[in-house]
Amino acid sequence: MGRLDGKVALISGGSKGQGAAEARLFASEGAKVVLGDILDDEGKKVEAEINETGGDARYVHLDVTSEEQWDAAVSEAVDSYGKLDILVNNAGVLLRKGVEETSVEEWDRIQDINSKGVFLGVKAAIPVMREAGGGSIVNISSIAGLKGSTSTAYSSSKGLVRLLTKSTAVQYGPEGIRCNSVHPGIIETDMTEEMLDAPGREHWLGRTPLRMIATAQDVALGVLYLASDESRYVTGSELVIDGGITA
Ligand code: NAP
Repeated sequence: MGRLDGKVALISGGSKGQGAAEARLFASEGAKVVLGDILDDEGKKVEAEINETGGDARYVHLDVTSEEQWDAAVSEAVDSYGKLDILVNNAGVLLRKGVEETSVEEWDRIQDINSKGVFLGVKAAIPVMREAGGGSIVNISSIAGLKGSTSTAYSSSKGLVRLLTKSTAVQYGPEGIRCNSVHPGIIETDMTEEMLDAPGREHWLGRTPLRMIATAQDVALGVLYLASDESRYVTGSELVIDGGITA
């Protein structure tokens, strides 16, 4: 028995990193998975790998800043698999700049992808989740969404995701739609490649009580819990997966 048997999931930013780990894990737990990203070649490889190993997945091109592409991705889930139970708003980009170094164009780009992209995903998913009688939305924020950081636009965008999550939980709980945020610390993916050069790695290991840098799978396992019915009484909550950094 898989922990997501009978479920249909849509994951944004699913071509690599945490999104790809979630797509593989969800499929191995019995979910049918639609993964969307702007990296088509990488996304099709993840799709093929899942389908060749006994899972069921479809890749769609999904730029999360486009309302039309969100509608098309949700339709793909419903047309292919009949419904949508789980949405993981995972796509995101990092900008490590302070207030004065951040241009208006850079600010807008980060908010467009990290904040508006999540809002559009939630908005597109709610009507079909309502039809299915409920659902689980998992929004990937960051520990940078819980406290200030030197990455101004990034922290601001991830803070918005935290309260968008709680607002969604409050508004749609009565319809059986849950919404939770996940706050990863330092995870080894392409996003953190520069941060985790040799001195950077030592710095972050020193700041992390568990003295480890997490893998994408460490986050995917937390997302799996929130996506599954095991968390049926959990909504509006913040799951911090950071090795103790914020502790
Ligand atoms: P990643 O490996 O860079 O994966 C992010 C994926 O999202 C990439 O495939 C990326 O494509 C894609 N993407 C970017 N813009 C998009 C758009 N407009 N529409 C659709 N997809 C888009 O990074 P990750 O570490 O897995 O990050 C996943 C999530 O975790 C992000 O929301 C990130 O902010 C959050 N997070 C990461 C860490 C960490 O330490 N890695 C910590 C806290 C939170 P491109 O490569 O072309 O940009």
